[in-house]
Amino acid sequence: MNLSELKQPFIKNFPGDFSKNPMQRNTPRVLFTTTDPAVFDHPELIVFNENLSEEIGLGKWNDSDLNFITAQKLPENIITYATAYSGHQFGNWAGQLGDGRALYAGEIINKEGKKTELQWKGAGATPYSRHADGRAVLRSSVREYLMSEAMHHLGIPTTRALSLSFTGEIVVRDIMYSGNPKPEKGAVIMRTAESFLRFGHFEGISAQKEIETLAKLADFTIENYFPEVQSEGAQKYKDFFVKICDDTRQMVVEWLRVGFVHGVMNTDNMSVLGLTIDYGPFSMMDEYDLNFTPNTTDLPNRRYAFGKQAQIAQWNLWQLANALFPLINDEKFLEETLNIFGTKFWEDHDKMLSQKFGFDLILDGDEEFFLNWQGLMQEFQLDYTLFFNFLETGEEANSEKAAEISYDPSNENLLEKLQNFLSVYKNRLAKNTISEGESKELMRKNNPKFILRNYLLFECIEEIENGKKDLLRKLTHALENPYEEIYPEFSVKRPSGYDGVSGCSMLSCSS
Ligand code: AMP
Ligand code: MG
Repeated sequence: MNLSELKQPFIKNFPGDFSKNPMQRNTPRVLFTTTDPAVFDHPELIVFNENLSEEIGLGKWNDSDLNFITAQKLPENIITYATAYSGHQFGNWAGQLGDGRALYAGEIINKEGKKTELQWKGAGATPYSRHADGRAVLRSSVREYLMSEAMHHLGIPTTRALSLSFTGEIVVRDIMYSGNPKPEKGAVIMRTAESFLRFGHFEGISAQKEIETLAKLADFTIENYFPEVQSEGAQKYKDFFVKICDDTRQMVVEWLRVGFVHGVMNTDNMSVLGLTIDYGPFSMMDEYDLNFTPNTTDLPNRRYAFGKQAQIAQWNLWQLANALFPLINDEKFLEETLNIFGTKFWEDHDKMLSQKFGFDLILDGDEEFFLNWQGLMQEFQLDYTLFFNFLETGEEANSEKAAEISYDPSNENLLEKLQNFLSVYKNRLAKNTISEGESKELMRKNNPKFILRNYLLFECIEEIENGKKDLLRKLTHALENPYEEIYPEFSVKRPSGYDGVSGCSMLSCSS
């Protein structure tokens, strides 16, 4: 890989702590601390994303690159650092958090001028590790590597993954926080993003009333990542905030389109660029359920449930608005912008849903149609993805088909209700002003044929632990082509043996 061009503009622009002191502590008034990675004796590559490497300007793989992707023996031009950010966790101010196990390698610019930041996750403790070890286990690393790539290929803004490696270390984790710690294989991923800046970076510096640094951070972000913002003065920060609201809204609409539940939408896990970031106890939704949360820590309140994600994004944007207030100084404007977020979200949402159904326009009565559909999905526990795939075939329902897409197949009303719905749907489709072919094309583009279900990740992790990579290869192929059916065996509902299994239905934050 071409590592000589890696630069660290962020640390040149902001107040930082250059001590390399790894002691865990608060670092007031600074945005980063230079930090050395841990030394791993026997790192081993699991998978490297060649296409991404070429795309971002790092080029081809050399055997010596194992040193780089596992953060060992780095070239001299690379200064590694962890950034300080704060945030609201589960609705409460949590104070300083920061990169507890993420380390920046810097930024690379490709031939087209596109900037990409590189980060290791799991490369050791930093001043922000808060009594934890700065390590990541194989389980969570495989999940982040594959899911972030799956989201990218679904067309959803996200951070991406360049590599996944074993560190050679054993890490101890208590997966269900039940007092049963177990040894697990340690891993490190290298991930990429245009920028990893989070709401929490702005919240942290603003809470300390470091307004000069806050303005500098906003200016840096706008100059580098928001070319469309051309205004000056307070208007510049208003336009910046509006764009963040727009990007965040579009991201969440997209999550709802494919059935993604993030699971920990704390403000420190919200990207200023509207990227899906920090893959932890996330899940694709199997059976449609607005109340579904995959995160055991999120029970019983279900703050981060599938159907609440827009509301929470809006709440998070309120916190960002508070952080940016010293630059904007206009309460009325912020309130209006946040209200518009809510209105626009539902407009975009309904448009997205209508496209999943193959409708070209939203007509009177569609709102009721959508509500009836939600009722049907919830009542019969229908699989979100398989339902739309079935609709796209245009076939009639029979008991066998109905059972294939429902997690409650023995419900005696299932077939009749499904058939009733299909006849209402056919009448509605007939009101389209586009051709049947065009309608099918809308459905094809908006309804994935392959989603990376948790049970598939679970099986893949087990295989990798046992030294095999067949499923990893197959899943990679499938997730790179999510709107086609490449492997029919993946187009089925979650096998019943996985119901309620830890790591499949429910996940903890332990990673
Ligand atoms: P999360 O809920 O995963 O977004 O993490 C919240 C905070 O905990 C962030 O500051 C993380 O960097 C930190 N964190 C989580 N796991 C670890 C770990 N194993 N070592 C150090 N810091 C961690
Ligand atoms: Mg996080």
